[in-house]
Amino acid sequence: MPNRLSEKRAIVTGAAAGIGAAVATRFAEEGASVALADIDVEAAEDVANSLEGETLVVEADVSNSSSIDALVEETVEEFGGLDILVNNAGVGMFGHVPDLSDDDWDTAVGVDLNSVFYGSRAAMPHLEESGGCIINTASISGSGGDYGLEAYNAVKGGVKNLTKALAINHGPEVRVNSVSPGLVLTDATQDFQDNEAIMEDYGERVPLERGAEPEEIADGMVFLASSDASYVSGHDLVIDGAMTASAGQPNFGKHLGVDE
Ligand code: NAD
Repeated sequence: MPNRLSEKRAIVTGAAAGIGAAVATRFAEEGASVALADIDVEAAEDVANSLEGETLVVEADVSNSSSIDALVEETVEEFGGLDILVNNAGVGMFGHVPDLSDDDWDTAVGVDLNSVFYGSRAAMPHLEESGGCIINTASISGSGGDYGLEAYNAVKGGVKNLTKALAINHGPEVRVNSVSPGLVLTDATQDFQDNEAIMEDYGERVPLERGAEPEEIADGMVFLASSDASYVSGHDLVIDGAMTASAGQPNFGKHLGVDE
């Protein structure tokens, strides 16, 4: 029986689907009490009902600070404290800067970046008390530019750097890390998965030749939340099948007959 998170009390945002649902599931399997927060409360209930152990479902909009304050308050009241906050809920945002509306930009900033600030601010006193940790879902898109993902690049870069700033300022009590996935096979990327040309392109660029299962991201989060990572803080754990291991140069060997 795995118990790397036994007696730990966790909040996972965006827990109704995708990576968040996988994290909530893995945390529960490792013995944690898990508060599943999402705007889609019915789907979050379905995930919670599939889990063993103590769970709490909270309807919360992570882009709204009062909603996050209420989420943290309700969880602390129910579980008697808080050890782990996973700021995971997020949205993609396609479109070039000249074509993005104020609303598009505000949505990306609100859901993907303000959420991390609101969640960390609300949870910090409780995490300082318990000696807990924060894990933020960033992205490899936070480490550079992508085609047509400018707003997303901006906010995920912000998540990565806010993670480091929090780690610097809240040690030794609280560890703060981020996880940067590459392409993960969730509802958010269903359009990609349905597009053969995209998946072929992706397969050629990523050495492991496939996207990640949400559970493969959740496993990294279990590590960061557990005592196995007791000296890991301010770190961005890249889980991308070696996508970003490339220096970005073309495959010269292919043209020189060294590689196929
Ligand atoms: P998903 O769409 O499968 O799930 C996201 C969940 O967040 C949904 O349950 C949704 O209802 C919830 N949510 C959306 N807006 C919310 C809000 N305002 N308040 C509360 N909950 C809200 O997405 P996913 O692929 O699991 O992505 C999760 C995180 O991982 C996001 O931060 C995303 O940017 C990041 N990420 C995803 C990928 C990928 O390829 N899927 C890659 C890198 C990073």
